[in-house]
Amino acid sequence: MKVMKFGGTSVGSPQRMKEVARIFEPAQGDQSFVVLSAMSGTTNSLVEISDYMSKNNPEGASTIINQLERKYMAHIEELYQTQEYRQKTKKFLQEEFRYLRSFCKGEFTSKEERIVLAQGEIMSTNMVTNYLLEQGKKAILLSALDMIRTNENGEPDLQFIREAAMEQLEKNANYDIYITQGFICRNVNGEVDNLQRGGSDYTACLIGAALQTAEIQIWTDIDGMHNNDPRVVEHTEPVRQLYFEEAAELAYFGAKILHPTCILPAKYAGVPVRLLNTMDPTAPGTIINNEIQRGTIKAVAAKDNITCIQIQSSRMLLAYGFLRKVFEIFEQNKTSIDMICTSEVGVSVTIDNIAHLTDIVNELKMYGTVQVDDDMCIVCVVGDLVSGNVGFETRACMAVKKIPVRMISYGGSNFNISFLVKAEDKKRTLQALSETLFNK
Ligand code: ADP
Ligand code: ASP
Ligand code: MG
Repeated sequence: MKVMKFGGTSVGSPQRMKEVARIFEPAQGDQSFVVLSAMSGTTNSLVEISDYMSKNNPEGASTIINQLERKYMAHIEELYQTQEYRQKTKKFLQEEFRYLRSFCKGEFTSKEERIVLAQGEIMSTNMVTNYLLEQGKKAILLSALDMIRTNENGEPDLQFIREAAMEQLEKNANYDIYITQGFICRNVNGEVDNLQRGGSDYTACLIGAALQTAEIQIWTDIDGMHNNDPRVVEHTEPVRQLYFEEAAELAYFGAKILHPTCILPAKYAGVPVRLLNTMDPTAPGTIINNEIQRGTIKAVAAKDNITCIQIQSSRMLLAYGFLRKVFEIFEQNKTSIDMICTSEVGVSVTIDNIAHLTDIVNELKMYGTVQVDDDMCIVCVVGDLVSGNVGFETRACMAVKKIPVRMISYGGSNFNISFLVKAEDKKRTLQALSETLFNK
């Protein structure tokens, strides 16, 4: 069995849905497990609808709901050939929009918001499954709400997912194609929840790991992981192979093609992940597996909206326990740290979640002088950067020789060197790294 995930643009129109449906077809005697995102733009519209609802503005919410409904109704005509399937899908979608409108009245909390956000995937999977059934395929829609669950820490409950996915397959053994929703899940309280934006990649990797499939395929609108961010830098090129750890670093540090934490379950289960392009299905894409290509720098990525906090204190000099106190403050404020640099008299850390910044700074001031720099960006160079590869970090540093670098982190893993720069310097930093490392 193969797990295949198709993102928003891959199911972004009836035409695209028809094209990707051809890719689902398993080889003789095999089965496909297909994870679908919402049609592109839908989750953003649902976020906007929720925003109006939470601000108690039913008119604003209705305007967007009406626009969305008109778009979906037009898709029905194009997607199906028979009146039977047009009617069936129309009925389902009308019910969906009626359900969305029902949230205009009454209390609107985060619980309702998460239900609203889940409807995009519920609609796209229903539309595509009906299309497959109309085409006479042996396909079935399985609800991700029955299979994907998070635990009390908000992390995927791997044991539950494994048992639930197996149970669904056993109950529905005789199908060629299983379809399910990406992104959506239930939390430990049984409420509808999600795996954060871009979370459909995570769903696919969780299912692939749970079922120990031969491969997890992430189908998107580009031919695999590029060696730099194609939205920012020109002349980027696909990287054909990545070690699990390299892909995980790139995803975590901003390569939008992958959800930040989706590689971990695949890595632990040892299931290779292949990134493929729906616009060019025969292109080789990128394979992510357990092989390390020695002596190569693979790619660069950048993570935006970073805040840097520096704590300086002469009391740190020779004092043990100083760092523990500093880290405890971040822990108590449920804020994770990305980069760390220390010296004899100070420590600099970066965070991307500033929800508790004021409390953190106030508490840190008990231990030293605190300086905060916002609007920063982590630029991360990924490859075989083990210390024995003499000169590799020098090459990366040479590339940024004209850029004011606020922090450098090397040695935390064997696969990464990171620079903290101002957001305004991101583009020229990425460009300079492409020129030096990849001769582009
Ligand atoms: P999907 O909707 O299929 O999940 P995404 O928009 O989430 O697609 O991810 C694909 C996009 O990621 C590409 O179109 C590209 O602009 C962006 N991207 C950012 N960094 C990279 C990279 N290093 N390699 C490839 N794509 C990248
Ligand atoms: N539809 C969700 C989003 O737009 C999840 C995904 O596409 O992966 O974030
Ligand atoms: Mg995505």
